Amino acid sequence: MIDLRQKALQLDQQDVLAPFRKRFCIPKTKEGKEAIYFCGNSLGLMSTGIRTAVDQELMDWEHHGVLGHHEAQYPWYKYHEFLTKPMAAVVGALPEEVVVMNTLTVNVHLMMVSFYRPDAKRHKILIEYSAFPSDRYAVESQIRFHGFDPATSLVVLEPEPGTHYISKERIQQVFDEHGEELALALIGSVNYYTGQAYPIRYMTELAHSHGSKIGFDLAHGAGNLALALHDDGPDFAVWCGYKYLNGGPGTLAGCFVHQRHHDHTQLPRFAGWWGHNKQTRFAMGPRFECMPGAEGWQLSNPPILPMACLRESLSIFEAAGMDNIRAKNLALGDFLLEGIKSLGRTDMETITPVAADERGAQWSLRMLQGNKGMFEKLTQRGVIADWREPDVIRIAPVALYNQFAELAEFLELLKQL
Ligand SMILES: *Cc1c(COP(=O)(O)O)cnc(C)c1O
Repeated sequence: MIDLRQKALQLDQQDVLAPFRKRFCIPKTKEGKEAIYFCGNSLGLMSTGIRTAVDQELMDWEHHGVLGHHEAQYPWYKYHEFLTKPMAAVVGALPEEVVVMNTLTVNVHLMMVSFYRPDAKRHKILIEYSAFPSDRYAVESQIRFHGFDPATSLVVLEPEPGTHYISKERIQQVFDEHGEELALALIGSVNYYTGQAYPIRYMTELAHSHGSKIGFDLAHGAGNLALALHDDGPDFAVWCGYKYLNGGPGTLAGCFVHQRHHDHTQLPRFAGWWGHNKQTRFAMGPRFECMPGAEGWQLSNPPILPMACLRESLSIFEAAGMDNIRAKNLALGDFLLEGIKSLGRTDMETITPVAADERGAQWSLRMLQGNKGMFEKLTQRGVIADWREPDVIRIAPVALYNQFAELAEFLELLKQL
């Protein structure tokens, strides 16, 4: 364990992202020391610039009232545009393919309104096993909304028997089996429970070759993986802003609509005035004139305070660079994996795939006896992680503020407890 500590210090010294840690507020334990925060996959930490960013908007409101729409330092009437470019860089998309709006589950629904168009022959939706509950509820309710029954229209991509792993062969099998009846695949990559990153391009090509649409829920992917949404080609993607993106509790979400759909302003959609041509929006005419690109799916004039948080946090992603973030996430994972192996514990297994292209920052450690005690002890010692029923401790050491030394300390605790 001593040399793990030394190795950690060395890696921290070489880490090009190390200076970013001091831009984040690290929660303290009851004893007043810095907690080991491994929950960036659930709620990212606050960066110190956020208070100033929010304060700016409060001051602009204080001083300008409604005139702030034009006179604020960052004019509110086009506030979402300040977020588009850095958000597009995070997910590897063209700026016109990305918009920040609403919250995640709302965007899941809006995208299904446009891209889930079932008919008697093609009515099925494919989701992955242990999909996030909100996604499953949304999908089932859409199936019912169109007059179909989840019992016959919902297909679940199951892992290899006896494992949590979904192989490419499994994926292909499912598409071959249901392909002619699939209207949509909605896949969460990275899976929130296992940490497996599914192959976006591979699944997209399979879906399209079977005549199905495909979208990804990147709640656990955005700000974590090196994504290339434009090149990989899914029809749409959605993600939240408060996990790896550190945009603050319940902040606004992202939405991607591939360029190939941008000319189809006739696509069925639920419309609102913020999706109307911005040149004539304030003419307040009765006829909806859809904006081209992802912006055409906007509904409302957005809440500026959470957008200010997100604008500030995206500026950190711009400065750090997604490639650096991804490289460090992988290095943190390698370090953790090696450490866990060296412990040789028989009461615990890692269900996250070890192959670099099949994982992000999150590790799901399964307690084989379903023993929550270990998790509780870690919590007492100042590790902030989370527990997912029935038996998984999730930890996500993240590039922007976690250190290799924290992993070494975590491994030391695992050894002692
Ligand atoms: C976190 C998460 C959600 C949460 O949805 P909200 O609408 O933001 O509450 C939904 N889906 C997935 C896959 C998630 O990881």
